[in-house]
Amino acid sequence: MTARLIDGNALARQTRAELAPRVAALAARGQQPALAVILVGDDPASQVYVKHKVADCEGVGMRSILDRLPADLPEAALLARIEALNADPAVHGILVQLPLPAHIDANKVIATIAPGKDVDGFHLANAGALMVGQRGFRPCTPYGCMRMLQAAGVEPRGRHAVVVGRSNIVGKPMAMLLLQANATVTICHSATPDLAAFTRQADILVAAVGRRNTITADMVKPGAAVIDVGMNRNEAGRLCGDVDFDAVREVAGWITPVPGGVGPMTRAMLLVNTLEAAEAAAAHAAPAAG
Ligand code: NDP
Repeated sequence: MTARLIDGNALARQTRAELAPRVAALAARGQQPALAVILVGDDPASQVYVKHKVADCEGVGMRSILDRLPADLPEAALLARIEALNADPAVHGILVQLPLPAHIDANKVIATIAPGKDVDGFHLANAGALMVGQRGFRPCTPYGCMRMLQAAGVEPRGRHAVVVGRSNIVGKPMAMLLLQANATVTICHSATPDLAAFTRQADILVAAVGRRNTITADMVKPGAAVIDVGMNRNEAGRLCGDVDFDAVREVAGWITPVPGGVGPMTRAMLLVNTLEAAEAAAAHAAPAAG
């Protein structure tokens, strides 16, 4: 059996197409959704990510504000810039591109972003909301993975989901979202002995490690849905995931490719979060119906 492909590019295109009329409706009321992206320093990968985020906004009719700040910017100046964006009613989402230079405390920076504008979903208020099942912004990568499962018709309820990786931006929120969707969830990490013994039990397997070929075909249950979050380079310098794609696709029921899988959906979910922030602000600003 060859796995069915969950096409992240196609799903991201569809997601953006669904957003565009909602963006246009707000813009027509003078409330064009706006995302502020802050880049500190000149890390080449970060520059590419930021460029994509700005282009994505423009593609769906959102406004983007790109702040390129010098690598030696004092932390206090960055915090002051965030405070100014927090106070600006025309800005709905604020994203600070990570990693930050070593002299800046990323936790402090994230804590300074107003939770209602934290479209990355990294603020403790949003992380806590996810933990206790309240409304809040969900981190874009796991949020996108959930959309991919949904689009494939993979229902997490009653299934065993195994998440490999426990970072705050991918593994942990992924596990919480799967739990919320009524899966039985196992989280594996670098101290998990016999990883394969766990992954082989997975109906839904999410790999978020950052090491290629972490998941080989013998580690996958026949028919499982395999979501590959990893972004690595092979010997030839080509982008690849954590999953041995060619072999695993012969065993799995569904699989996401790299590139063209989780990456484009992560970008699309940033737009979803920004639009939701703008819609919430518009609802708040609207005069009470009388
Ligand atoms: P981190 O490095 O923060 O986390 C990696 C996790 O993998 C850790 O929890 C670590 O365990 C675990 N791990 C490492 N080695 C093993 C092992 N041998 N067996 C089991 N678990 C292991 O990475 P991120 O979560 O930030 O990212 C993971 C990958 O996803 C990266 O390749 C990253 O580039 C990619 N990524 C892709 C995105 C996209 O849009 N497609 C977005 C974000 C990330 P421990 O906690 O014990 O150290």
